[in-house]
Amino acid sequence: MTIFDPLRPSSASPATNGAELPTLLQGRATEKRESAYATALAQFDRAAQILNLDPGLADTLRSCKRELTVNFPVKMDNGEVRRFTGYRVHHNTARGPTKGGIRYAPTVDLDEVRALAMWMTWKCAIVNIPYGGAKGGVVCNPKELSPRELEGLTRRYATEISPFISPEGDIPAPDMGTNPQIMAWIMDTYSMHRGYSVPAIVTGKPINIGGSAGRFEATGRGIMFTVREAYRTFGWDFDGISVVVQGFGNVGSITAQTAHEMGCRVIAVSDVEGGIYNPRGIDIPRLRRYMREHSTVQGFDGADKITNAELLELPCDVLVPAAMENQITHANAGRIKARIVAEGANGPTTPEADEILMANNVLVIPDILCNAGGVVVSYFEWVQSLQQLFWEEDDVTHRLERIMVRSFHDVYEQSIRMNLDLRTSALVLGIGRVAEATQTRGLYP
Ligand code: NAD
Repeated sequence: MTIFDPLRPSSASPATNGAELPTLLQGRATEKRESAYATALAQFDRAAQILNLDPGLADTLRSCKRELTVNFPVKMDNGEVRRFTGYRVHHNTARGPTKGGIRYAPTVDLDEVRALAMWMTWKCAIVNIPYGGAKGGVVCNPKELSPRELEGLTRRYATEISPFISPEGDIPAPDMGTNPQIMAWIMDTYSMHRGYSVPAIVTGKPINIGGSAGRFEATGRGIMFTVREAYRTFGWDFDGISVVVQGFGNVGSITAQTAHEMGCRVIAVSDVEGGIYNPRGIDIPRLRRYMREHSTVQGFDGADKITNAELLELPCDVLVPAAMENQITHANAGRIKARIVAEGANGPTTPEADEILMANNVLVIPDILCNAGGVVVSYFEWVQSLQQLFWEEDDVTHRLERIMVRSFHDVYEQSIRMNLDLRTSALVLGIGRVAEATQTRGLYP
């Protein structure tokens, strides 16, 4: 395996342009689109082998502790009653209560929720916050629901999973398709059942009902803290580096804004409709104002139009995929010209693409490290909600930076010691910490 060498330039090698795969991948010319769960299990097995985990312990850690499926009715605006299916999965509780988002999407299934719950366990352990992993989901397309239907669905789903969630046991948060308003409805529903307000039941809620300052910005800021630390570590000049960001939602827009504030040149950004490019740098504050008015980056006058596919292949220092999974695959990985791919989204790089990037000396900062800023500040929000004592945004951001910098070094230094790529190193670190906690607690009864 080729491990990243900061002294060697990254190369978009013609031998790995997707037409021809490197030797590593010969015999696997067609990329198999594994399910997220299959990928999560394969990653676990590899890390468990490196850690030489006891087979009984490994078998426990690779299984989800509890899984709840709920089917429930919702009255639609036209008077019809429709049945929806939802899930909540607790993967592991060795290091503390479980924490993880709720996803509303038509494609959600139990396996996807299991995979996301498992990744949350490792992510929380990597940044060393006292949580295990959980995830939830409802099979629906939130864009097709009216606000009243969305509220009805959310309140009923919250009621159905309420025996499974609590401020001490399992604390949901937003994920794709859900937002602070949905967290407010969950918090209100849970509180109505208890008869008093329980703000610590969710994180990512609006600030006016106990959300944390800096939570919305946390993931994007965390990404750029990690990237800047990588530059410092390798002795590279960070000033004025070029950054490309795919996705201009919560994670993408704040990553671009933070990069801009740190003196980087954000040369391209995109949303679902396509990208915009200006090699001299895009005025991000002005673009965010434009976005608030037009709900898209398209039509912004300070840049040229490009496609999402072209955007990923632009020459740049740092590429941040911050939209969705499976964006960098064997088909385009060989044409990625960035020095660093900083994963803002969960699962944007396929395992085959990982190997191509590694062969081309492109450093991938993996999602479970790079985008962990969101759950770190969710942890801060939970602590503030429990104590009813609120922190200034500066305090939140400084504490976040300390944790992201420390976590980057924990993963990077271990990768050097053990000769591992950063993704494997992060998994080994996270899984190792959960295994240790499990052994310290001992086996009940
Ligand atoms: P979001 O819904 O706010 O934004 C998603 C953005 O991606 C939008 O700009 C959308 O237009 C764009 N997009 C959607 N499909 C696209 C496509 N096919 N090509 C290009 N752009 C596309 O979501 P978000 O909260 O920013 O989350 C983005 C990713 O980051 C997800 O993978 C999510 O799981 C992950 N993530 C989010 C957080 C968080 O705190 N929000 C934390 C960790 C990881």
